[in-house]
Amino acid sequence: MPDWMHGVLGTNCPIRENALSQKRLSKIDIVHCAASVVLLNPREPLQRQGKCHKLEPMVKVEKEAKTTARLRRELLKWYARNRRDLPWRRNTDPYAIWVSEIMLQQTRVAVVVERYQAFMARFPTLVALALASEEEVLALWSGLGYYRRARMLHKAAQFVASQNQGNLPVRSEALRMLPGIGSYTAAAIASIAHGECVAVVDGNVERVLCRLAGWQEGASRTGGAALKRKIEGLAAELVDPRQPGDFNQAVMELGATVCLPRNPQCLVCPISSHCKTRGEHKTAPRPQMLSREVSHALSVRSAQYPGKGGGSGAREVLLEQRPAELRVMPGLWELPTLRDAAVPEQYLRLTVRHAIMQVNYYVRIRTVFEDDVDELTVAGGERRWVPLGDAGAMALTGLTRKVLARTHLLLAPPLDSIAPEPVADVL
Ligand code: SF4
Repeated sequence: MPDWMHGVLGTNCPIRENALSQKRLSKIDIVHCAASVVLLNPREPLQRQGKCHKLEPMVKVEKEAKTTARLRRELLKWYARNRRDLPWRRNTDPYAIWVSEIMLQQTRVAVVVERYQAFMARFPTLVALALASEEEVLALWSGLGYYRRARMLHKAAQFVASQNQGNLPVRSEALRMLPGIGSYTAAAIASIAHGECVAVVDGNVERVLCRLAGWQEGASRTGGAALKRKIEGLAAELVDPRQPGDFNQAVMELGATVCLPRNPQCLVCPISSHCKTRGEHKTAPRPQMLSREVSHALSVRSAQYPGKGGGSGAREVLLEQRPAELRVMPGLWELPTLRDAAVPEQYLRLTVRHAIMQVNYYVRIRTVFEDDVDELTVAGGERRWVPLGDAGAMALTGLTRKVLARTHLLLAPPLDSIAPEPVADVL
């Protein structure tokens, strides 16, 4: 490239880069850049060269690139200092990341931490998960809610074990082909485990980016497909190609700990200088909670076969399996439902509140003697007297686990907190 061209063309100019990579220019050089055509003729005097119409926009692009680089730096620095020490962040095993990402969908981190460790201890590899029965997987999932996720995870593990020698695909497009893996999970696995430069967009990321850009939050949930595309475009622009996994986790972490839905901590936000709203934004109204009253029978008897599931003197609890054709939590075990929701005071064992999405259930638990079970309860699915020592390992609904834990009947370690369960868990 002639020396004079260095002076004419900006450092980020595609013409210059083109000329440099070709090492020479042809006779009359018509160099196409993204938005204009520039005539360059090295034999003509400098003042007769065509004016580069791209120069001005390129200055803007260069400025934006610098701003993006600064945002990435600031966010990554903050993440390195402030990231929570979560069990799934201690390695980059794609299977471990996959399990954690599936568990974290719509379940609180505190609940996932507890369940994740037990799950990974029992199914440390994808093959171990693939070889387990569905009932066993559901039992380990108990308390996390949204059981369809567990079924899909199990199915996908079986597919990968049989079709791909137990190795998860590496690229995000291939991961998306597996049951239960959408673009969010695929991007998380591929970027964190393999460094693929692909952006993760979950609810936290969406909220952060909307506030950053000054777009109205929550519009994508209410049918704003165009906004959704804009958010994905911005996420793809911002993701750091050198550390895509860390960058994605940093944005998610910011959304989970600083850019909170109702009370963003803008004063300590590492990217507040880039943010168009800084807390001055409209938030979506809180969804209205509905209330429902239900009642279940807690029936416990002395074991018919002492020694099984807890030794002599062991007791059994009556559980009922939800029919497979139900849309919500099919196949899980629960306490039988009472015919009459109103429970006389003298029989009331306890009342618990149990939230499932936008519904608060006020659940009355009545003690029912074995002889009265048929008369007082509605027959649902298959019933079984289960030794209390075995109940904890079964695929119980979150509510049943909560009731057994509160009444000190659950011999397995109780959960501190139970995640909300789905309204519609469709297989
Ligand atoms: S400045 Fe406030 S609103 Fe903006 S990204 Fe940071 S925490 Fe969110």
